[in-house]
Amino acid sequence: MMGQKKLIWQIYPGCLVVTLAGMIAVTAYCSYCFRQVYHDQVRSELDRLAGFAADEIRMALKTQDPGKTGERLRDPFSDLDRLCKQLGRVSTGHTRLTIITPSGKVVGDSDEDPAKMDSHFDRPEIQEALQIGSGSSMRFSPTLGKRMMYVAIALPAAPRRAGEQVPPGSVESSAPIAVVRAAAPLTEIDHALHGIYVNMLWASLVIAAGAAALSLVISRRISQPIVAIKQVAERFAAGELDLRVPTPDSAELAALAGSLNKMAAQLGERITTITEQRNELDAVLSSMVEGVFAVDTKGRIVSMNPAAAGLLGIDPAQAQARQVEEIVRNVDLQEFVRQTLAGIQPDETDISLPISGGQSFSLHGACLTDARGRRSGAVIVLNDMTRIRRLEAVRRDFVANVSHELKTPVTSIQGFVEALADGSVQDPAQIERYLGIIARHALRLNGIIDDLLTLSRLEEAGEQRALNFAVCPIKPVLEEAIDLSGVRADEKRMTIDLACADDVEVRINPPLLEQAVINLIDNAVKYSPEGSRIRVQVRQDDTQVAIAVIDEGCGISPEHLPRIFERFYVVDKSRSRKLGGTGLGLAIVKHIAQTHGGRVTVESTPGKGSTFTLHLPG
Ligand code: ADP
Repeated sequence: MMGQKKLIWQIYPGCLVVTLAGMIAVTAYCSYCFRQVYHDQVRSELDRLAGFAADEIRMALKTQDPGKTGERLRDPFSDLDRLCKQLGRVSTGHTRLTIITPSGKVVGDSDEDPAKMDSHFDRPEIQEALQIGSGSSMRFSPTLGKRMMYVAIALPAAPRRAGEQVPPGSVESSAPIAVVRAAAPLTEIDHALHGIYVNMLWASLVIAAGAAALSLVISRRISQPIVAIKQVAERFAAGELDLRVPTPDSAELAALAGSLNKMAAQLGERITTITEQRNELDAVLSSMVEGVFAVDTKGRIVSMNPAAAGLLGIDPAQAQARQVEEIVRNVDLQEFVRQTLAGIQPDETDISLPISGGQSFSLHGACLTDARGRRSGAVIVLNDMTRIRRLEAVRRDFVANVSHELKTPVTSIQGFVEALADGSVQDPAQIERYLGIIARHALRLNGIIDDLLTLSRLEEAGEQRALNFAVCPIKPVLEEAIDLSGVRADEKRMTIDLACADDVEVRINPPLLEQAVINLIDNAVKYSPEGSRIRVQVRQDDTQVAIAVIDEGCGISPEHLPRIFERFYVVDKSRSRKLGGTGLGLAIVKHIAQTHGGRVTVESTPGKGSTFTLHLPG
């Protein structure tokens, strides 16, 4: 992770700084104390030595000329250098003794030749001794190239008694005749302190390494359970919500682990609930006949149920995240979606739009809102209205057809009756012809009404489930139908062949099935040329019994095939009427097939013949 430090680098510097600072403080204090004690010790040693030397010098001067002072002492000072060198030799360590006159001239020195030495008048310890009787200072001696401590004692004209101290700030009763200075190098303490500092440096390095190791151990101990928690948290994020974080030793991390475990459990429960609800919703949407799809605010498909995909003829996977206009090229639908998204379209407004193949849909739309109540898209429901529209059209056509079919013979009858009634027709042959026409139209009216009644009875019985069905052999029913149609077939010198096994049995209502087969054979006779052959064939398989009526007639053009089972639908009106057709025969067949739980199909080749097949569940 960029910009984020490892735990060890957060702990280590702090540990190191605290330890080193403590160590430096302790060392500095100790070395200061040590230096002070040492300096005090050296100073008192030098003081003692200077005092001793002063006594010796005084003794020497007394021996030479006890009554003389001042100028007359110059000669006795000439021996002082030798005395200094003697005393210097007997003193311990590297102590140096120097005797200086009040004017600063060096008159004796244990190490050097006084003649070569410059004036010491400005030395701080000399100045101090001349003023207050004694003085000391520490400084670097360029002569010796070392740091030195100097202690100077003024040598008064009157002798100082042994052990007598010059009180600080007071001046000897008489002016000093010389200053005795003892000096010792401070190299020992400097060496000792240097050693301490070197040791301290090493100790610092060891401590730094120790602090690093300690920080590593501490950071490991802290980070290991955190890493373990992090790993489990990552697996939570990946969806493994059944896992649980192991409880670490520390109270804070244990609380964190507990909270994470609680969160995972709650998340798991919520996800389970959401999954269940989503599955329920999916199941509901999948089982819906209505097409449902949802779009986001930009009009992109978010989800689509199989019915919607089927109705719009698209693959639901390909529709995902695409604009509605990309997948359905229909301006009305796009406009409807746009208006629904804009909130203009009132909810559940119905519009119908023709999609490819002439299908009609009614659309209902509703806005979707998110958890904060903001508009997040829209859901559109598609209802396939094709069947309803077709049924409505069929019903409209039916009423129109019934009226038309009934009106034509009634108008004819009315016309001929009026002609006969007003007496204008006197010719008996003409009257007979008119009466014949009236009888034919009456017959046709009767036929239409019979067929309509049959249909209506079928519908009523079907609705009330008042029909009796029984499993019976099918062959006798077919033989009876062929017998009844035989008269009309004979008139056209047609043969009807039956191919049916004796043992074929099926669950039927025999009179109804007979009626359906008669209608099919009658049509075959009507629409086939004289002398042709009609075959009635029965096939049975595991699921059904198929009764096929095959003729060698005029056949039907493909464009009529989807509609010939509709009521009053005829291919050629004048021919049908001439042949005594009502346009209801096939509608009755279809209804009978449906009443049996089956269906009727047709295959036809214009000019070659047709095959009508009744499929009954076996
Ligand atoms: P119709 O009483 O006019 O025969 P149907 O409902 O029985 O009425 O038949 C509807 C139309 O289907 C007929 O007008 C006819 O054009 C056509 N049709 C029916 N059966 C045949 C067939 N076997 N061969 C050719 N056309 C047929």
